[in-house]
Amino acid sequence: MIPNVLTIAGSDPSGGAGVQADLKTFAALRVNGCAAVTTLTAQNTRIVSGVYPVAPDVVEAQIEAVLADVDIAAVKIGMLGTAAIVSSIAMVLRRFQPPNIVIDPVLRSSTGTGLLKDDALEVFRRELLPLATVLTPNADEAGALIGAKAPRSVAEARTVARTLHGMGAQNVLVTGGHVTPNAPKCVDVLDDGSTVQELQVQRVMAADTHGTGCVLSSAIAAHLAMGAAVPDACRAAQQFVAAAIAARGELSAGHGRKPVHPLHELWRNRQE
Ligand code: PLP
Repeated sequence: MIPNVLTIAGSDPSGGAGVQADLKTFAALRVNGCAAVTTLTAQNTRIVSGVYPVAPDVVEAQIEAVLADVDIAAVKIGMLGTAAIVSSIAMVLRRFQPPNIVIDPVLRSSTGTGLLKDDALEVFRRELLPLATVLTPNADEAGALIGAKAPRSVAEARTVARTLHGMGAQNVLVTGGHVTPNAPKCVDVLDDGSTVQELQVQRVMAADTHGTGCVLSSAIAAHLAMGAAVPDACRAAQQFVAAAIAARGELSAGHGRKPVHPLHELWRNRQE
């Protein structure tokens, strides 16, 4: 049977990030995607021009409708928007207890627009973070979550990952792209509270990408839904994102930052 995976995230109408990127990733990895929208954004590859949170009870109703009917094998959580949305999601997840919750703590866009209100951060830490099977912060998000500077070395990333594990996430993957931005390899640090692994991938030299965090966390959720163990899911997702970054030139989407291309392999196979 094809597993079902639910994304709870924001909408990027230009298609490179958010729910749109999540559903493409699910399709590429052959899991069935469901999607509950937390926030509508108006954005393109150059700018986020509007952020419009969905009413918390409407977010909750979408998730409840899915979880009450569909057998969900993994959940990916992305952009949340407001404290009230964070709380309503935590409440409905505690009620239904779906397995394999992957949380990408989206705080701002690469262009600098805030995507989670400041007062929501504390609610996020307290109510949602402890529900994470895997938490996937980048360097800035990891720093913000623990109220410290962003890690700038693999050693610092290891320290932050352990702190975030102590805050309640079962596994923490601090993504390395911005920890050591000039290194030839990206090192993602995975901490399960007892073991720390450094997952390495050859860096794809690409300034100004769009949607990498969304695709990574969705790919982890997809692999967990298919039965992979957490380290294997993280490793596979890391490779998947690297390939989706490398294929970004096949798309001509917009004139700003380059959306990654999670569907590249599927489309290439169809052409053959
Ligand atoms: N818009 C939405 C709806 C998102 O979920 C995200 C990231 O998760 C972004 C924008 C930011 O994407 P990027 O970091 O590529 O700018």
